[in-house]
Amino acid sequence: MENQSGQRRSSTRSPAALATTAIMPFLAFLNSDSPCTRNGVTRPTWVRGSRDSESSGLSSSITKTKTGNRKLNTPGKEGKLVLRYGSKYERSPRLRKLALQHHGLSCKACAFNFAKAYGQQLGAGYIEVHHLRPLSSVRGEHQIDPKTDLTVLCSNCHRMAHRRTGICLSVEALRRHLLTAKSR
Ligand SMILES: [Zn+2]
Ligand SMILES: [Zn+2]
Repeated sequence: MENQSGQRRSSTRSPAALATTAIMPFLAFLNSDSPCTRNGVTRPTWVRGSRDSESSGLSSSITKTKTGNRKLNTPGKEGKLVLRYGSKYERSPRLRKLALQHHGLSCKACAFNFAKAYGQQLGAGYIEVHHLRPLSSVRGEHQIDPKTDLTVLCSNCHRMAHRRTGICLSVEALRRHLLTAKSR
């Protein structure tokens, strides 16, 4: 009888309730006050983040003393387990494929080609797709034309394009930076 009633109870529970039950031990682990409890792994910390707010990591490598002086040349700790939560803008694999078909696999700013640089086995087919008008600058879902709204950049140029928070460098601006740096 107990088993039957137990089965009845569990069968009426919603998927959300079942999922909550499944993660309860994990949540308890996260909420525990113990700094280091499971298999020598430090209790993870939740931080908020988003795909479009990638930082250079410089701020985290600079620690301040009590007097406010920056300690730039001392060793520091890394490796703490951190769980990120946040939002990201949905991207379409189909549009990415169309962008690659149209723009090719060489960086539009510096002409870097992954297959040429790393060989076919490792580099074939790799390039990063860049939105000429950042998704974060447009509210909500909108039409994207892979030919005019997207382009392709190597990882270096792509990172440089987004390096300054709130600013997205154009391909032309990237080219100018490269030419200026080379001419010096
Ligand atoms: Zn490039
Ligand atoms: Zn981009």
